[in-house]
Amino acid sequence: MKSFAILGSTGSIGTQAIEVAQMHGFRVTALAANRNVDLLVRQARLLRPELLCIADEQYYGALKEAASGLGCRILAGMDGLCEIARHESTDTLLNSVVGMVGLLPTLTAIAAKKPIALANKETLVAGGALVMDAAKERNVPIYPVDSEHSAIFQCLQGNRRSQLKKIILTASGGPFFGKTKADLQSISVEQALNHPNWSMGNKITIDSATLMNKGLEFIEARWLFDLTPDQIEIVVHRQSVLHSAVVYADESMIGQMGVPDMKIPIQYALLYPERLDCPTKPLSLTDYGQLTFAKPDYDTFDCLTACIRASELGGSAPCIANGANEAAVAAFLDHKISFLQIGELVTESIRTLPITQLQSYEDVVRADRAARDFVAEKIAGM
Ligand code: MG
Repeated sequence: MKSFAILGSTGSIGTQAIEVAQMHGFRVTALAANRNVDLLVRQARLLRPELLCIADEQYYGALKEAASGLGCRILAGMDGLCEIARHESTDTLLNSVVGMVGLLPTLTAIAAKKPIALANKETLVAGGALVMDAAKERNVPIYPVDSEHSAIFQCLQGNRRSQLKKIILTASGGPFFGKTKADLQSISVEQALNHPNWSMGNKITIDSATLMNKGLEFIEARWLFDLTPDQIEIVVHRQSVLHSAVVYADESMIGQMGVPDMKIPIQYALLYPERLDCPTKPLSLTDYGQLTFAKPDYDTFDCLTACIRASELGGSAPCIANGANEAAVAAFLDHKISFLQIGELVTESIRTLPITQLQSYEDVVRADRAARDFVAEKIAGM
């Protein structure tokens, strides 16, 4: 029986991973949440993990009390996340925390030679070279959970990587597809939180609305599949049925399709290379009838353009774009800046801040900090 640990167990990926785990009778060795003590304890009651961690340390006391009698060791903070990442009786670590906070646990799991099912895209955006070099050196597999990257990973199976020409990264286009900047001037937090195809946490939902999410995925794909920016074509596909595709030297395009349900890529990452029943709906092509494809609107969605630029610039630029975005999204959710200002701040951050090489975790943290400070100062001066 396979065992795995989940960082971010109360989030959308984490809860769906638990459904998959229950369907296949996996042992779940550890669970970690940011601050949702109630749900974390309910999950612990069901799964009886060995370790239970709350990332936000101020909830440690509450967790300890609520989980007493469950026989779990209670952990907190970054130390707790890292202890789970290297936990001995875990086969695979599912890292589905949101944000830069996922980077150190990822590096810790790699150091402990734990295979990683990676749903934390900021890990690769901020520390791509660091993570991929470490994984290569220790021969640790990273299985992508993001639906697009899972699709690409699936399309690469059984073919020669050296004959890959490019990839097609599909994008839903977000809730504001077809809108212009003028239309987006006065978008409210509530309007931005309403996504047509996927239901997700607030941060990633805003990232989907600004297309930052696709920008992060562009950078993530670069690292995961060792591509140059010009080998990645973004295509807007509103139905989210074709999850991405690859093109080989002979111009054969191979894609992966399925209903928009994260349980499919989650399960593939956890079960690779096995394909078993999945608690999801079958895809009926005739129910859809038509699938549509369009070019992205780079003029309206500054975040997407900034991420591609950051990817071309290399070094700390993607990390800066990501840090600026995390700070800007938090400010938007706090009603401190407008929707369009998220993209303006991300663009300005990579234009203004010095681009450096990232050779250590500390270098990544420093670049991330600089980006967040830059955004904070800009907002303070507004
Ligand atoms: Mg995705």
